[in-house]
Amino acid sequence: MLPANTVGWGAARSCIRTLAEYGAVRKKEIGAENVYDFSLGNPSIPAPECVNGAIAELLKGDSVALHGYTTAAGVVSLREKIAEELNGRYGTHLTPDHLYVTCGAAAALCIALRAVLFPGDEVIVPAPFFPEYRVFTEASRGVVRVVPPRDDFQIDFDALKAALGPKTKAVIINSPNNPSGMVYSEETLQELAAILRAHEEAIGETVYLLTDEPYRELVYDMDKTPNAMCYYDDTFICYSFSKCMSIPGERIGYLAVSPRMHDKTAVYAAVLGAGRALGYINPPSLFQRVIERTVGAHSDFSQYKRNRDILTAGLREIGYECVDPKGAFYLFAKALEPDAKAFCEHAKKYELLLVPSNDFGMTGYFRMAYCVSRDMIGKSMPAFKALWDDYHK
Ligand code: PLP
Repeated sequence: MLPANTVGWGAARSCIRTLAEYGAVRKKEIGAENVYDFSLGNPSIPAPECVNGAIAELLKGDSVALHGYTTAAGVVSLREKIAEELNGRYGTHLTPDHLYVTCGAAAALCIALRAVLFPGDEVIVPAPFFPEYRVFTEASRGVVRVVPPRDDFQIDFDALKAALGPKTKAVIINSPNNPSGMVYSEETLQELAAILRAHEEAIGETVYLLTDEPYRELVYDMDKTPNAMCYYDDTFICYSFSKCMSIPGERIGYLAVSPRMHDKTAVYAAVLGAGRALGYINPPSLFQRVIERTVGAHSDFSQYKRNRDILTAGLREIGYECVDPKGAFYLFAKALEPDAKAFCEHAKKYELLLVPSNDFGMTGYFRMAYCVSRDMIGKSMPAFKALWDDYHK
């Protein structure tokens, strides 16, 4: 006998990965240049130059120390640098003792959930959302409650209020959002904070806000995104250097506990405990030291911005209804039939690899990752037109 949940998570493959694998086979069959693969959110631009510079410098130093264990929560001097950077940006008062360095945002989310959830606690997730939230929550024996978005893809507060209950323990938000590209405004975060504070008072329990922000710096028409930690005390930041520094395979990010969090000392102890219980200690030593030397740097996003503009304009000209992407590198658009899975399956006929919205917690849309070459976007337009024509005969 094996636990049904672990077998289930493993057997029900991520539809994004399955599509990417289909794409790899198809590229071998008909040539990579003939497949329009918008499946994976894998950065397509180089890491900032300082990353390779820092690696080269580090390799000249003491190799034993470089590759040795670090403290479980990450090198203190790195945590100091991260705290300094966040404090400078948001006026927070973080110290190394509020930070836990992780293997990306995925580990940060898992640790935060494991730290606070009792079995049966509910985690509210505004749609559309990163599909792994469901697995991460269920792995900590929590229950996901999905809240549909407003038409403009901001949070629907009436739906959120209706979902809050005595078992609500956490809310996960993601801005800039995968898959919609939406960025939550300051007003949205303030309103969310007010609702959660009122609910905390009503139930006499802490409700934690997990803000998942691997795309935080990846915004196009604004200088910076507002941060939930500034508006709501019981906030965890789950951050990753994967996307903004183009280093997803290096597995580095962090979890930050708000210095104003209720019972923060106990919560940080729970974070250390959860990290220990999960075996998520001491993320890659080399990359901890690389980040210590490069924190604050990010890749040049101009190629993504160009891609966003070309793809959005091209699809709109054909007739597709697209959500206005303000950040991240995803475009979310309305499928041409209510069943997004059937639509994306049909799109394969034109070698278009599109992700249906179902796994993101809503129906009727599809996602395109535009961290791809500009050339591919241009070449894919006739395929999008042919697909459109199929539905408008
Ligand atoms: N959260 C969101 C919204 C993501 O899109 C991703 C990765 O695609 C993650 C979390 C996981 O990030 P990481 O690879 O840094 O663990």
